[in-house]
Amino acid sequence: MKIHEYQAKEILRKYGVPVPGGEMAMTIEQAETAAKSLFSAGNAAVVVKAQIHAGGRGKGGGVKVVKTLDDAVARSKDILGMQLVTHQTGPAGQKVQRLLIEEGSAIDRELYLGLVLDRASAKIVFMASQSGGMEIEEVAHATPELIYKEYIEPAVGFQPYQARRLAFKLGLLPTQINDAVKFMTGLYKAFVDTDSTLMEINPFITTKDGKLLALDCKINFDDNAMFRHKDLKELRDLAEEDPLEVEASKYALNYIKLDGSIACMVNGAGLAMATMDIIEYAGGKAANFLDVGGGANQEQIENAFGILLSDKNVKAIFINIFGGILRVDVLATAVVAAAKKLNVQLPIILRLEGTNVEEGRKILAESGLKFEVGATMKEAADLAVAAAKG
Ligand code: GDP
Ligand code: MN
Repeated sequence: MKIHEYQAKEILRKYGVPVPGGEMAMTIEQAETAAKSLFSAGNAAVVVKAQIHAGGRGKGGGVKVVKTLDDAVARSKDILGMQLVTHQTGPAGQKVQRLLIEEGSAIDRELYLGLVLDRASAKIVFMASQSGGMEIEEVAHATPELIYKEYIEPAVGFQPYQARRLAFKLGLLPTQINDAVKFMTGLYKAFVDTDSTLMEINPFITTKDGKLLALDCKINFDDNAMFRHKDLKELRDLAEEDPLEVEASKYALNYIKLDGSIACMVNGAGLAMATMDIIEYAGGKAANFLDVGGGANQEQIENAFGILLSDKNVKAIFINIFGGILRVDVLATAVVAAAKKLNVQLPIILRLEGTNVEEGRKILAESGLKFEVGATMKEAADLAVAAAKG
């Protein structure tokens, strides 16, 4: 689960990590009020920042530093409602519906801090780099040696010596080391407490008067841990998510929209990935990833059809089921009933294997509906690709 920068900064503040003061605004009036109070508090500059669930906003024109109230209002008008395109949004961009109006900071150096759950080592890794501000992915690609890493032993947690080592590698001044240790320790604690999978401070800045600040913050939470964070769950902003994915999440369907023409309905995430691979191998493109789960019933299959059918790019539906806990005859009955009820007109191609597969095939054959059944996964994928090409 992703959250906005202003929400992430609110979390950091609770953990004693210094962030610039600011306020979220959803209207120009709110933005103006926030900017007015920041200027009258003595700030020489104010920053107007687009809040979307994607990075690279600066380059895309979504971050503006202003010196007057008039400018703050003008830039807010430019940014609020704009379709912001960054390297992370895709060419269509993302509509800006919230702003963060923040105190301007006098930047001395732009550094980078990041915490990520590293699956390979099964540890949290703390990363730091002097190359902050720009795209860290580029730094990692071109000059990986410029990213310093500390792997954290789960049993003992992040140790002060590790923080000091990163702070020295960042070239911080001796007078800043203690603050940096506190800063990083606070980040680590926030990361663990909130069950985050990613926390990035880019840029992590030093100011002209020697202070340390998180100028930007991105946090992703582990969806599987959200059941124990009711308060964090409320930070979800549905307007930032794909409408079909939001709909799917209501029915506990594991759905991710893609841009191909072959809709997939599969039980099990591993099989769903294999299905997408074999569609590519057969020369087609998957319209989605969809795991209906192990115990899918008719209602769940109907919900799944509903979502697949509302994607206008879909030209064929490929159902790939391995009957284990979900018996094939039960699935076949549900598919027939749902297809009749929703009057599905698109070609449906199935590959079925597992418990009660013969009964399942019979139910499909006797349904009076036109299904195509492939004997193998590859044959079914070929049929689906052919059907999608019409
Ligand atoms: P991102 O592009 O989505 O990562 O957005 P950021 O919040 O990182 O902002 C992009 C860039 O805007 C930063 O790297 C800074 O160079 C600049 N910026 C952001 N806030 C301030 C500020 O308070 N003062 C100054 N001078 N620049 C800022
Ligand atoms: Mn940034």
